Amino acid sequence: MHILLAEDDPALAELTMRALRSQGWAVDHTPRGEPVAASVKSDPYDLLVLDIGLAGIDGIETLKRVRAQGSTLPVLMLTARDAIEDRVQGLETGADDYLVKPFALAELIARIKVLTRRHAARQATVLAMGSLRMDREARRAWIGEQPLELSAREWAVLEYLLGRVGHVVGKEQILQAISGWDDALSENAVEVYVSRLRPKIEPAGLRIRAVRGFGYLVEEQGAPVAAG
Ligand code: CA
Repeated sequence: MHILLAEDDPALAELTMRALRSQGWAVDHTPRGEPVAASVKSDPYDLLVLDIGLAGIDGIETLKRVRAQGSTLPVLMLTARDAIEDRVQGLETGADDYLVKPFALAELIARIKVLTRRHAARQATVLAMGSLRMDREARRAWIGEQPLELSAREWAVLEYLLGRVGHVVGKEQILQAISGWDDALSENAVEVYVSRLRPKIEPAGLRIRAVRGFGYLVEEQGAPVAAG
């Protein structure tokens, strides 16, 4: 796990880094808010620990900039004991949780574990590619802001393909994944659902490519078509 710590108190930063590293986590530290948004954009961090009381731009402004670029990175903010307004504003700006200073390092570690678990679970419920999003929990799909209507089996085929982006998926595999409803389905049925899905996902910039003798591959329309 890779964590970014934004904390301007050198002693507290040192203690915190030591505690997080003792968990086997990699930690980068910045005492300022300015570089945070660019850092979380260019580096694949798993979590941001953000002190609200930073010199220069404060933690709230830092968080605004992080969220403004569409980042869903889990953010745990650190606030002063009496700063209730900071906490409220932080949560409204998109912090996932907060800890009040002074805090026990064991509690910081426990909160980080909860946040990253929650984030991972949430990530898995939404499949996205091109401008298509499938929310598996809500069982709803969209292309951009437009709801996408899918039959139950079309949904199952698309969900199966999108869960395996970059892999050619065999018709037999798809059949097994969708045949819970009806044992009489044949591989021809898979072809039917794929052919119905194609025009539906085309506006999302996606295509389902048939790989002869193997099965199907979902990819973005701009992707190069391999020879053969
Ligand atoms: Ca501070």
